[in-house]
Amino acid sequence: MRPLRSLLAGLVVVALAALGYSKWHERQLLTAAPGSKAKQRTVVIGFDGMDPALLERWMVAGALPHFAALKAQGHYQKLASTEPAQSPVAWSSFATGLDPGAHGIFDFLHRDAQHYAPEFSIARSEPVETVDFLGMTLPLGDAKLDSGRSGTSFWSTAEATGQRASVMRVPVTFPPEPVQQMISGMGVPDLLGTQGSYTLIANHLVPAAESGGHVVLQAAGEDGNITASVPGPAHPLYPRDSLALPIRIIRTPEPSQVVVELDGVRAQLSTGDWSEWIPMRYRFLGVGRIPGMVRLRLISGFPKLRLYVSPAQVDPLDPAFQVSAPEHAATALAMRIGRFHTLGMPEETWAFNQGHMDEQGWLDMVATTLGEGEAMLYDSLDRGDSELVIKVFVQPDRVSHMFWRGLDKEHPLHAQSSLLARDAIAWIYRESDRVLGEIQSRLGPDDRLIVLSDHGFTSFRRAVHINRWLIEHGYLTLKPEHKLAGNLFDGVDWSRSRAYALGLNSLFVNRRGRESQGVVEASDMAALKTELASALLGWRDQDGSPVFAAVHDADDIYPSAADGHRPDLVLGYASGYRASWQTTLGAAPTSLIDDNLQNWSGDHCVDSALVPGILMSNFQPALSIDGIADVSRLIVDDARPTQDSP
Ligand SMILES: [Zn+2]
Repeated sequence: MRPLRSLLAGLVVVALAALGYSKWHERQLLTAAPGSKAKQRTVVIGFDGMDPALLERWMVAGALPHFAALKAQGHYQKLASTEPAQSPVAWSSFATGLDPGAHGIFDFLHRDAQHYAPEFSIARSEPVETVDFLGMTLPLGDAKLDSGRSGTSFWSTAEATGQRASVMRVPVTFPPEPVQQMISGMGVPDLLGTQGSYTLIANHLVPAAESGGHVVLQAAGEDGNITASVPGPAHPLYPRDSLALPIRIIRTPEPSQVVVELDGVRAQLSTGDWSEWIPMRYRFLGVGRIPGMVRLRLISGFPKLRLYVSPAQVDPLDPAFQVSAPEHAATALAMRIGRFHTLGMPEETWAFNQGHMDEQGWLDMVATTLGEGEAMLYDSLDRGDSELVIKVFVQPDRVSHMFWRGLDKEHPLHAQSSLLARDAIAWIYRESDRVLGEIQSRLGPDDRLIVLSDHGFTSFRRAVHINRWLIEHGYLTLKPEHKLAGNLFDGVDWSRSRAYALGLNSLFVNRRGRESQGVVEASDMAALKTELASALLGWRDQDGSPVFAAVHDADDIYPSAADGHRPDLVLGYASGYRASWQTTLGAAPTSLIDDNLQNWSGDHCVDSALVPGILMSNFQPALSIDGIADVSRLIVDDARPTQDSP
């Protein structure tokens, strides 16, 4: 017995030592001091959607002193975007130096040619192999996540030559790439696996969410309080069921105040308050748990209660899946700067667009994400251990989308825009200027600063139902009993359809041998595309304005592209026009063009030539830069590794 007992005791000691070591090691990683100081740094700041016309107007007016000074001392130019001028397309060209034909992202959405269904272009997940056991579905390994982007990023190349890169919240960086520090941006899903699903809890009738969220209608119980549930991710073992968390909203003597209980956390909120982050756990089978976090906003208290619950997203202090590289980087960062939004596109434009979020609440939320972005950037600049620091601020883009109506006197919603709405875009430009000043105050004399935007902006006054136009001109045919096409081309007779539109700028030919029910022969493609492009360019709105500025044949603009997700024609809308939301999902309502009466009132998914971005630097570039795909040459080509030896 004695040798056995000694052996067991020895094993326990070894196990405890291993556990202790791993805890110690984890602690070391999380609290690691910065590495050696970088001598000369290149700091690249993206302001998504910053428009040269607005920037120039407000620089001249004296509202943007830091931008004006940078322009006076360094370099300023317009920067051509990609075709189309969409953020995931353009930032992928920025990262890789490639055109969309080579990096493979052509639009937010592409189509599955088998089912004529939209798919998210930025990141894809491979289905996990599973086995059924006693009614449960057991995964065989982890879900495989893959970036939709091909090509090598310049930060990976720079690391290979001895530089250290800190890359923060750049669009299309999920899953994270192995550099010194990467905090992933656009592409990171929430815990439900979506790009952001919020919950609105109300005790009275409110319009349902068409997209991006859930409305939970719940009357108060006998005690006057409300008990509801927050929808969660699919059950890991019974994927047809969803997990949910109970939430309790308790009255206080003051009607505009409530106490909310969520997973053991109590938060007191007054009308108009955002809560702090609330960490919570979706539990299953007694021991399983999926950690996450939400923020709450009390939009209105009792009697007409509306409580907004943000998308449940990865808690950087306890990540349910990897949102940074190295894996512990998000946790270490959150220990230094506090919790931050991890969802790829956290500004909740859908909630605001659908009237589920109020104007001030939405702008407060933008201010929060801006502050988080600043904190992570200043942390990296102050640690000083990266030769390459790259951070994209998406807030100018989001505010311009939601508030262009306040700026554009010809927008159908301008007359009814609030004073807050009329100043919102100027406010985010002033905030960007303040951030630029903060950045400059942290730079050393040898540090290079590059500032860019991926595209500019214009108004979105009229929503174009391109699939209705295709129906009226005989290119898309409905089944006899159908008057319109629902989402996903419901009601379309593919055997008599030659072309269809999906996504924001993409038009596809229903090609035989590629689409599952294709009818157009390869030999007829060129003639059909020419015919479509010339007919679309001739299309006039009721006031005589052209709907399109250009229609591009993908063979001309992406000569190197594989056929895969590439559209056949890229639609360059004229300023003021954009694909309707229905078009993006393959629907065709009965009208051709409608006034855009939603908060989402500015856009850039028009012909790329109409919405250039900007490029600025605190030095005179030796290279001439035309488009966003060239910027990485400016960053890498004459930057040398100048790391101090430790
Ligand atoms: Zn945008």
